[in-house]
Amino acid sequence: MSLNVQVLAELSEKIFGKRARQVMEFLISRGEATDEQVANFFGIDVNEARKILNDLFEQRLLRYRRARDEKIGWYIYFWRVTDENPAVILEARRKKALAILRQRLEYERDNTFYVCLKCEKKYTFDEAVDNSFRCIECGELLEPLDNARVIEILEEAISKLKQYNPFE
Ligand SMILES: [Zn+2]
Repeated sequence: MSLNVQVLAELSEKIFGKRARQVMEFLISRGEATDEQVANFFGIDVNEARKILNDLFEQRLLRYRRARDEKIGWYIYFWRVTDENPAVILEARRKKALAILRQRLEYERDNTFYVCLKCEKKYTFDEAVDNSFRCIECGELLEPLDNARVIEILEEAISKLKQYNPFE
């Protein structure tokens, strides 16, 4: 097994768990396989196999070719492990995570929040105004919510992720 492929198998387990890794290893040893072959090999439902394969594909860990089965008229998918460099995949994941965290941080910074202390439901300022500062669930008066700690946690996570180098 090449180092790249080992990293990809490792990564699949980190994201999706042991079964995903086993599927990756099966595809590595076979070269390529269909949904049905994966399902049969692991003794699982075809839909379950497809879900694992699609999840891995969405994370760019797999690619496929498809061929039309002339008898049944459907497409058959042949899955194989990507030949992309894991560093490229990891970098894309890091950027995506950073974008999500930054968006969340911006939202926390731009809004003032209120909370119902009874049911812990959180409201933005606008929502609180719309409901006359009363909880829509229980009618309790809303209290201002200090989100400084949330902002701090987000900032820490962003700074860690900015420095993150998976190959150190
Ligand atoms: Zn409430």
